[in-house]
Amino acid sequence: LFSKTEINVLILGLDYAGKTTLLEQMKGIFKKVQGIPPSKIPPTVGLNVGKMDVGGCKLTFWDLGGQVRVRSLWEKYYADAHGLIFVMDSADVGRFEEARMAFDTVKEQGELHGVPLMMLANKQDLPEAISTADISVQFDMHKITKVAFRLQPCSGLTCDGVAEGIHWIVDEAK
Ligand code: GDP
Repeated sequence: LFSKTEINVLILGLDYAGKTTLLEQMKGIFKKVQGIPPSKIPPTVGLNVGKMDVGGCKLTFWDLGGQVRVRSLWEKYYADAHGLIFVMDSADVGRFEEARMAFDTVKEQGELHGVPLMMLANKQDLPEAISTADISVQFDMHKITKVAFRLQPCSGLTCDGVAEGIHWIVDEAK
C-alpha cells in the first residue's frame, strides 16, 4: 500500500476557539519558522493556509474560520480533505451547545468522506477548562465508530498536545 506524501487537513470550529492561534503554533513547531505571537492574531475572518513538513509528508492546513456548515463554497474543501480537525474552546461552556451542533456537521462530513477526525479540546491551560473526559460524554463521542477518531486536549498558548495531535492525524491520513 502506498502512503500519501501530500496531505490536506481542514481546521474547523467556532470563531474564537483558537484555530488561527493553533495553526500559527503548528507552523512554529513543524517548519521551525516563528509563527505570529498569539496576542497579535485577530479572530479568523477568511481562509488561512499553512504548509509544513511532518515526518516527510507535505501537510497543507486550511483554516476555514467559523465556517462549518456545508455551503457550496466549502464542499470542495471537505471533498479534498484527507483529515478533519475540529477545534473547540474547552473553557466556553456557554457555547458548548453551539459547538456540539457544529461538530455534528463536521463529523457527518468525516463519515461521508471516510477520513480521520480529531477534536482539539483547546484552551486546557485555563483553570475553568472542561476535561476531555467530560467533553467526550457531552459530545456523544462513543457514537463515533465509522471513522478513526481522537479527542486531543491541547493549548494554543503553551502548545501542549499540539504536536501529538498532528502526528496522530498525519499517521491516520497518509
Ligand atoms: P479563531 O477565531 O478560532 O481563529 O481563534 P483565535 O486563534 O483568534 O483565538 C481566539 C482567542 O483565544 C485569542 O485571544 C487567542 O489568544 C486565545 N487563545 C487561543 N488558543 C488559546 C489557548 O489554548 N489558551 C488560551 N488561554 N487562550 C487561547
